[in-house]
Amino acid sequence: MQDKLYINGEWVTPDLGQTFPVFDPASEAQVHAAPAGSEEDINHAVSAARQAFEGSWRQTTGKDRAALLSAMADELEHRLEELARLEVLDNGKPLPEAVWDIEDTVGVFRYYAELAVGLDDQRTTEVALPDPRFRSVVRREPVGVAGHIIPWNFPLLMAAWKVAPAIAAGATMVLKPSELTPLTALELGKVADAVELPPGVLNIVTGLGKTAGAPLSQHPGVDKIAFTGSVPTGAGIMSACSRSIKNVSLELGGKSAFIIYDDADIDAAVEWILFGIFWNQGEVCSATSRLIIHEAIADRVHDRLKEEARKITIGHGMDEGVLLGPLVSVGQYEKVLNYIEHGKRSGLSLLTGGQRPEHLEKGYFLEPTIFTDVPETSSLWQEEIFGPVLCTRTFRDEREAIRLANNTPYGLAAAVMSQDPERCTRTANALRAGIVWVNCSQPTFTEAPWGGMGHSGIGRELGQWGLNNYLETKQITEYTSRKPW
Ligand code: NAD
Repeated sequence: MQDKLYINGEWVTPDLGQTFPVFDPASEAQVHAAPAGSEEDINHAVSAARQAFEGSWRQTTGKDRAALLSAMADELEHRLEELARLEVLDNGKPLPEAVWDIEDTVGVFRYYAELAVGLDDQRTTEVALPDPRFRSVVRREPVGVAGHIIPWNFPLLMAAWKVAPAIAAGATMVLKPSELTPLTALELGKVADAVELPPGVLNIVTGLGKTAGAPLSQHPGVDKIAFTGSVPTGAGIMSACSRSIKNVSLELGGKSAFIIYDDADIDAAVEWILFGIFWNQGEVCSATSRLIIHEAIADRVHDRLKEEARKITIGHGMDEGVLLGPLVSVGQYEKVLNYIEHGKRSGLSLLTGGQRPEHLEKGYFLEPTIFTDVPETSSLWQEEIFGPVLCTRTFRDEREAIRLANNTPYGLAAAVMSQDPERCTRTANALRAGIVWVNCSQPTFTEAPWGGMGHSGIGRELGQWGLNNYLETKQITEYTSRKPW
């Protein structure tokens, strides 16, 4: 495990020589003292990124950068098992899910390698003008120095969603991982070393939000901030970015709805509902945490949900067959437990779960929990809990289902299930969300845009959209006529 920051291609001790503890959420034991970067380290990292950007990195072709991205993908793939285990130790998620994360991370680096090659041909495109005396071209240029601030729920994958497209575009960057899960992000520095990524292109400063994240978002030498995290932090970052008019993209929280119509295949629906809320312990921005069920099938769906939720094996992420690990930290555990206790105190109907599993003495574990008939006014219905807690309500007709789903300030994702394709299309078009799943919940593809509306954020990651985040658009217009103007 790394105990130094990665700045300008070197492993350096934090300026103040401080560390912060990293815990295994399954055993509550401290497993590492990670380097705590401060404002001085951020300044150092931003200068290194600026110097790299102004230097030979700018002359690289997309093909050059694609070779580096592909080499990073190979290196990550080579270390897949080791990185997945580190992710389990740091975040708590079950090993098979950590393996998916690292496989997806490899896929993201490979995908942006392809897009980087394509950039060589598309760097300049002609614009058709109505006046033949002029010729205009549009050039896409790297944005400059990017600051990446990321959360703890998919530690390495969230880093990849930002680092890979930024490298593809020819930007340079400073990555600030979450203080709850810094371990695998620091390993990216080793990956950069292994493939000889030029010094300063990728800098990694671990540390706390206030002392490392805030100086990065406020730094006048940073051209772009790409942030993933909570709404309050995102709002603060947006305001910090406004002071130096930085380009900013925000991937924030969600309270996504899952509508089940009365003609849905109930067995398939139950599988997707459980996956949509309980994978990754429900610590998923796009978790379908509000279930909106047609009243005619509500009893059957509830019975099946109760039966299946009780079969979910809870335990240490490294144990075979475990489907639900611990929550990431004591703070997150207490926050989710408070919502559950509030739900019980306010008389909500508890279908299943609602407490710590009895067989586990240590660790931040909670049972898969389902509350039914939750009023729209309840904080459990309105707020992002970010844990294994599902709230359900019933509806009578399509109009009511859509109204219930859209009645939230968030707009990240939504899902709909029905065997009637027209109804699915109508509903999908009416839902106010950046991602809509039809007859499924959660599948995520590197090629497709990811991001939300309303309080869920600004901008899109992944696909071509992710690359655009790190490109500026410049028009160059030339007067080509010999006649004087
Ligand atoms: P958080 O906002 O607490 O922290 C996110 C990051 O911001 C961390 O690295 C943290 O250190 C940093 N930070 C904290 N205070 C800061 C400050 N003042 N200035 C700059 N940086 C600061 O969020 P979290 O608890 O780590 O993550 C959970 C949230 O992330 C949830 O709301 C979830 O929905 C959201 N999320 C969204 C997506 C998405 O794609 N939309 C993906 C994953 C997580």
